[in-house]
Amino acid sequence: MSFSSLGLSEQLVRATSDQGYETPSPIQQQAIPAVLSGKDVMAAAQTGTGKTAGFTLPLLQRLGEKPRQGKGPRALILAPTRELAAQVHDSVNLYSRYIPTKSAVVFGGVKINPQMMKLRKGLDVLVATPGRLLDLYQQNAVRFNEVEILVLDEADRMLDMGFIRDIRKVLDLLPAKRQNLLFSATFSSDIRKLAQGLLNNPVQVEVAARNTTAETVKQSVYPVDQSQKSALLSKLVRDNSWEQVLVFTRTKHGANRLTQKLEKDGITAAAIHGNKSQGARTRALANFKAGEVRVLVATDIAARGLDIKQLPQVVNFELPNVPEDYVHRIGRTGRAGERGHALSLVCADEGKLLAGIEKLIKKQLPRKEIEGFEPKNNLPLKPKAKADPSKARNRNAGRGTNGGKPGQGRSGNGKPGNAAKSAGRSNNGGRGRAGGQQRSGARRQSA
Ligand code: AMP
Repeated sequence: MSFSSLGLSEQLVRATSDQGYETPSPIQQQAIPAVLSGKDVMAAAQTGTGKTAGFTLPLLQRLGEKPRQGKGPRALILAPTRELAAQVHDSVNLYSRYIPTKSAVVFGGVKINPQMMKLRKGLDVLVATPGRLLDLYQQNAVRFNEVEILVLDEADRMLDMGFIRDIRKVLDLLPAKRQNLLFSATFSSDIRKLAQGLLNNPVQVEVAARNTTAETVKQSVYPVDQSQKSALLSKLVRDNSWEQVLVFTRTKHGANRLTQKLEKDGITAAAIHGNKSQGARTRALANFKAGEVRVLVATDIAARGLDIKQLPQVVNFELPNVPEDYVHRIGRTGRAGERGHALSLVCADEGKLLAGIEKLIKKQLPRKEIEGFEPKNNLPLKPKAKADPSKARNRNAGRGTNGGKPGQGRSGNGKPGNAAKSAGRSNNGGRGRAGGQQRSGARRQSA
């Protein structure tokens, strides 16, 4: 299987070889012919599967079939975050290097005037976050009458972030006759509802079972008290000589605090979250990619769409409130077939969140205690019903179930317990968003 056998032009194939791609990834093998056929597509694809090229390459080919009449855009790609929008635009640029197609990206948090100028010059592909796109429309800087192809990228996240109204507003402005492509990591009932109103007899593309985590990612849980987490993280970074690790925190303040602690421990670190200016975010990412910063600390929203090649290590400093975010987070490692390792520092208070995650991904993660960091407040390692009473006594006595021996805390193959009530909490999108949320990052982050 090669890119040219999928029906892509020589120029597009050359652009993929420039990137070092040898064979199309599974999502590309399915999505490229489907998009080329002109049909609507509904694709279940996590980040890291090569989905961006999966829709960008055939989209570029279709646009290349006839020239632009007016100022465009002819393809509109909506993305939930600035980072993802910028990254998708980078891909559009890379793949269109041998064809005359013009593109631009617009998102909030930066000046609107330069974006207006770009749009005025005319373009084929516009990558946008929904809020800024509507601002531009309201200021007559963009028209949609030439849109032939619409892509909703990471649609689940757009709903999570409360963009449903903006998306619906944009949809109302588009020509009725167009091709629609919907990409989403997960398919909640809200996404299905959106898809029903949007897609016309779509080709369905699915590569990995929904909400599963990539086989190439080794996952483990390190039970530890909250107060010991930053010290344990510093130790892990040092002991394992990690040179590039992405760490997730639940809040912006948490990200700042952890960054300071790491720096104090002599480990270079930078934080990336919604309160940082776009410039600071871009700089932090560039320094991380260049290897000048060892640890990048990010919140879920800010990390969405980060594409860092061959990231070997992801750490959940805190588990996410929404189980699906775990899948997104660890999708940052083990990308495009690389091996990766995702570990989670989990304290007793996070037992329910962990159970929700394990229920979602349908596997129990191995536990590993680190000597000197055994939790005083024990993480429920086994489902309550199966707990061995003698071990339960031990637990009540104060320390863990395993006498502090590293590695013995694993609970093996038991079911993930009954505390997974939080599993269905995500995707309650459509909550509406207050104006300006796009600019300030997502509300959930401020929790
Ligand atoms: P995405 O899922 O679109 O975020 O892509 C994940 C990563 O895979 C990006 O770094 C791409 O450059 C890379 N990638 C995309 N397609 C291929 C391919 N066919 N072979 C190797 N790497 C790829």
